[in-house]
Amino acid sequence: MSTSNLIKAPDIIIRDIPVQVVRKPIKHLHLGVYPPDGQVRVSAPAHLTDDNIRLAVISRLSWIKKQQATFTAQPRQSAREMVNGESHYVFGQRYRLEVIERRGRHEVHLKNHYTLQLLVNPDTTQANRDRALKAWYRQQLKDRIPALLEKWEPLIGQSASAWGVKKMKTKWGSCNIQQRRIWLNLELAKKPVECLEYVLVHELVHFLERTHGDRFQALMDQFLPHWQLSRDTLNGAPLSEEKWISE
Ligand SMILES: [Zn+2]
Repeated sequence: MSTSNLIKAPDIIIRDIPVQVVRKPIKHLHLGVYPPDGQVRVSAPAHLTDDNIRLAVISRLSWIKKQQATFTAQPRQSAREMVNGESHYVFGQRYRLEVIERRGRHEVHLKNHYTLQLLVNPDTTQANRDRALKAWYRQQLKDRIPALLEKWEPLIGQSASAWGVKKMKTKWGSCNIQQRRIWLNLELAKKPVECLEYVLVHELVHFLERTHGDRFQALMDQFLPHWQLSRDTLNGAPLSEEKWISE
């Protein structure tokens, strides 16, 4: 959802840990630890004092430190050079890249269960190869999304007036509730398809409930009982380039 209604306060330091506090129109305090650096973020109802928040954070200090340790241990996805033999993921499956140089339009194919073929002109730059693959990823998502919308719009009783795929640095998906528009992160083409479904359902549920409070959680449980698995897959997967949060 849009975050423009949130007021961002400067970090407060609790036992040497910087904590970002965001005041929101919610009922309960929510504490999260986010990749890639284990940033601690607290969403707090407006009526809670800084001391209330401090106590809530201190009571969960051991959990926070444990979460932060897992992020430090997590491998980062290395930058791709778009050369033969590299690993690339398509809907959660790992493929080996095979680059074929020949004259003609750039093409990308799944040759078999193990090989992702990239056909490019000789001497094409790495950036152009990358662009060709990104366009293909985008198309993979665009091929899958309509069927998912057809399945979920009637179940949730809400529909999107428009949807799109784009590169997003900090979110897997976002929506504009007034305009009923949904954006999905291009990187979802690399994750298991259940993750795409989870993000899409999450955004559609925002049309019923704008915050991530109890009602939102209850609706997610009702529509997609195992949604936490997909969320954990997205948050626990090797991080590519930037930090991700499922907003
Ligand atoms: Zn959300």
